[in-house]
Amino acid sequence: MTHLIFPGLHCYACPLSVTICPIGLMQNLVIYGTVPYFLVGTLVAYGLFAGRGFCGWFCPFGFLNDLLSFRKVRIQRVASFGKFVVLIGTILAAWGFADTIFCKLCPAASIEASIPYLFMGIAQVNRPFLIHMGTLAGTLVGMVLIARFWCRYLCPMGAILALFNRVSFLHLSLDRRACSQCGVCGEVCPMGLEPHTEYDDHNCIKCGACTEACSLGALHLRLSPQVGGKDRQGSRQPGTDPGRPARGGSA
Ligand code: SF4
Ligand code: SF4
Ligand code: SF4
Repeated sequence: MTHLIFPGLHCYACPLSVTICPIGLMQNLVIYGTVPYFLVGTLVAYGLFAGRGFCGWFCPFGFLNDLLSFRKVRIQRVASFGKFVVLIGTILAAWGFADTIFCKLCPAASIEASIPYLFMGIAQVNRPFLIHMGTLAGTLVGMVLIARFWCRYLCPMGAILALFNRVSFLHLSLDRRACSQCGVCGEVCPMGLEPHTEYDDHNCIKCGACTEACSLGALHLRLSPQVGGKDRQGSRQPGTDPGRPARGGSA
């Protein structure tokens, strides 16, 4: 181990892993009752730098989500808080059972550890293996039906990074003077957001897809301090400039 903490979801039991999964480490620290200075400090540093930008640009399991993102349906707002429930449940389960329960269900661990170890002759097709395959299969089906399904609703690492989304240096900003409220940006968002109204949402993974889709240049990814957590550009309300095209108009 290199003692480097990975800013995403990956399995540290992977035969090729050289970094630590924050969720796996968190569970072990709860089990052993260790004060997590290094973990908390590192996660705060990651969060302040990019928030969920690591979800959009770095995490390999997020990349798998992207590969299967065929249906960019609108996000279910209440269900998106499910990832915080999973995060709290992961901590409580580690404390209550003195075991890394989340790791035994994690779909990333299924791909990065269970399957490789099976082919290496180390793992067997037993009950824990079949549970892993079941959670992986369910997650893959969810990803096919709903773009970034795991990232939207279930990932505890996404929940941790989401806590910093509105204060992180990397952030999405809206130029209200340029926005015509055409809604084109919402059609490409893998998280099912409407970027022109939800650009500072905790679900935004800062992937930049909406910035490329906006032909009016109203959305930007910036690396700078967020002032009060809100974009300050422009005072005019969206869509009130007669010189800008309405929804469906050409740029
Ligand atoms: S939500 Fe989880 S799986 Fe998705 S990109 Fe972020 S850390 Fe990775
Ligand atoms: S003008 Fe750009 S930011 Fe505004 S709604 Fe259209 S695509 Fe989105
Ligand atoms: S709002 Fe834009 S940057 Fe955020 S997830 Fe959606 S497309 Fe990506």
